[in-house]
Amino acid sequence: MEIIELTIRQLNQGLQKKDFSLTEVLAAYRTRVERSEDKLKAFLTLDWEKASQRCGELEKNKSRYEGSLLYGLPVGIKDVLMTKGWRTTAGSRILDNYVATYTATACERLENAGVVLVGKNNCDEFAMGGSNENSGYYPTHNPYDLQRVPGGSSGGSAASVAARQVVFSLGTDTGGSIRQPAAFCGAVALKPTYGLVSRYGLIAMASSLDSIGPITRTVEDAALVLTELAGHDPHDATTWQRPKVDYAAACQASIKGLKIGLPRQAKIDQLDQKLQSEIEKIKTWLTAGGAVVTEIDMPYLDKALAVYYIIMPAEVSSNLAKFDGLRFGQSTSRADDLLSFYKQTRGEFLGDEVKRRIMIGTYVLSSGYIDAYYLQAQKVRRLISEDCQRALADVDAILLPTTPSTAFAIGEKVQNPLEMYLSDIYTIIANIAGLPAVNVPTDLVAELPYGVQFMGSAFSENKLISLAAYIERTRGELPPPFIVYD
Ligand code: GLN
Repeated sequence: MEIIELTIRQLNQGLQKKDFSLTEVLAAYRTRVERSEDKLKAFLTLDWEKASQRCGELEKNKSRYEGSLLYGLPVGIKDVLMTKGWRTTAGSRILDNYVATYTATACERLENAGVVLVGKNNCDEFAMGGSNENSGYYPTHNPYDLQRVPGGSSGGSAASVAARQVVFSLGTDTGGSIRQPAAFCGAVALKPTYGLVSRYGLIAMASSLDSIGPITRTVEDAALVLTELAGHDPHDATTWQRPKVDYAAACQASIKGLKIGLPRQAKIDQLDQKLQSEIEKIKTWLTAGGAVVTEIDMPYLDKALAVYYIIMPAEVSSNLAKFDGLRFGQSTSRADDLLSFYKQTRGEFLGDEVKRRIMIGTYVLSSGYIDAYYLQAQKVRRLISEDCQRALADVDAILLPTTPSTAFAIGEKVQNPLEMYLSDIYTIIANIAGLPAVNVPTDLVAELPYGVQFMGSAFSENKLISLAAYIERTRGELPPPFIVYD
């Protein structure tokens, strides 16, 4: 099999048996990037010189990485994560010339495991968006259909993984940003429990919702990456002290006897007929594997989107205050006094969607409105969490579609933000409640990938991995995107 088709475990075996060298692995991925990147636009920064230097260092210090399955693997990282010495823009013009001064804990853990960073993946500006069209630079294209979006905000990550430009990529998920693009591009995404993976060094969007997770081609790959990422970090007080878990072990576990709930309020019967059939198929597969699928009630499910679009912008407005051209970011050359300096700088270098959210956030936090909006939303957030807890007391996992449609066309929803927000309807709930969820592709539907997600109780990643791995085994290989045949 070609190098770029291999899984993490297969790559590791090949390296150990000396079937190929680190340099050859890097060269194989480099060729793929060079043949596809002008069409895909999945990266904001690529640096082959740094990458091959890194291969040299890794080869010299091989013994330090003994036993690490991630040793020597070329990876991408979403551009909202700090990587020392690398240009890090968060997809925003305001950080166009910003070079990270330290490395995010999640990236450092991967570095310690021996990965080779090749580039920073394109994304919606400050991770705000669901299509990559809000990137301050250029939109990424879906590798299965270049006229369509890859999803967002980690669209560059998902597209580059599906197109075999990298072995895997790290993305971030505040309301679905790794799961939705993974569903649109036919990749696996694992959003961990809030606090399982450190957020230190993530350019924050909405801190109470943000989480970092892998986008990979297989469930086992996602489990292997999560094993490296998870753990307490003194730099992030929201991370938990918990025993180390080998998540990959869960891939082979039987799903016999697991109870799966399908919420009535998900209104599956309103989806496109073909997508309904995909959900039906997943139910049949689960039952055949010995799991029990039942309908459950989650009365607050349909409130999640409204709650998210109040709490998220409130946190955004506060987190983005530092990008004022003085503390962070490039600044305008046209200003007479301090106030006009701030206004001009933010006016010139921030995009429309970011401004929209800062304005909404400032509004819902302002005196006179905070009770009616922000505080009310916090109360409903609690009700949604309780809804999840109640449901998950009876079932092992909740099955949901990841998205209400397959990838839409570039330009289709840009004029209508509300319609764009609706594509997050199934993913947001996990962020609101801080719960883990995994997207697994079901198959291609009319030649485009589609995915379902399993959501579980806090720290139930193992069970979700078992379920997703079972679906993957039952499904078989997903046809690769056409770009692979170039
Ligand atoms: N698409 C969602 C939004 O626009 C999710 C973003 C995210 O998870 N970073 O807010």
